[in-house]
Amino acid sequence: MLVRKEVKPLRLIDEDGLRTDGRRVDELRNIKIDVGVLKNADGSCYLEIGRNKVMAAVYGPREVHPRHLALPDRAILRCRYHMVPFSVLERKSPNPTRREIELSKVIREALEPALFLEYFPRTTIDVYIEILQADGGTRTAGISAAAVALADAGIPMRDLVTAIAVGKADGHIILDLNDLEDKYGEADMPVAMMPNLGSITLLQADGEFTPEEFKEALNLAMKGIREVYAKQREALRRRYLKVREEVEGSV
Ligand code: UDP
Repeated sequence: MLVRKEVKPLRLIDEDGLRTDGRRVDELRNIKIDVGVLKNADGSCYLEIGRNKVMAAVYGPREVHPRHLALPDRAILRCRYHMVPFSVLERKSPNPTRREIELSKVIREALEPALFLEYFPRTTIDVYIEILQADGGTRTAGISAAAVALADAGIPMRDLVTAIAVGKADGHIILDLNDLEDKYGEADMPVAMMPNLGSITLLQADGEFTPEEFKEALNLAMKGIREVYAKQREALRRRYLKVREEVEGSV
């Protein structure tokens, strides 16, 4: 049997300041976003960032089952983050792990502030995030994809939510960690924001930052978030220009 193993790199950043995948410390991986890719969901988004491949689907606002979960004054938001068995090198069990359950909660909390849930009492909005291929940063990719899918579903939002991770590798503050950097770097800090409102909806940190490093990392995260936000908006605009053309073409 062929066993594929990941090798720990000697260094994460070389003497030219380049990372294992050739990026500079402040560079994002390539991003591709497609909107409205699933026929049967109310809203959907397919997002790639580097080797991560993520599908997000949104249903709702719709009736809540079981009924007793419904709230009289607002919609509930339910999120499921899930990695498919073939998303990682070692087959992952399809059953939800503790990590996935926790990430589902964290992602819900990151998205919730953007939604006008009070407009839809007694209903639910369900968000499904499937990680098809993982390479570090799947929670942030999942959040950015889910926000676009929510917008595609026509759900009123205060702003999109955009997320990226920053961290530390070989003493450098770096943007958008890949799997190797996530595993072997010194620190990892996923951040989600409503960029236009300037409000942070998720901030986690693993590892240690000095106060100065933390400031530098947060500034770098905001730079990355502005770039991802532009791609999210561009993808939504592209999709709805196409829809408009189709509607105008059919009358
Ligand atoms: N990962 C894995 N198997 C798992 C969970 C994670 O190989 O069961 C890898 C995957 O590439 C993921 C990375 O570890 O992207 C980092 O996981 P983490 O929990 O830090 O979340 P993420 O960075 O994806 O948000």
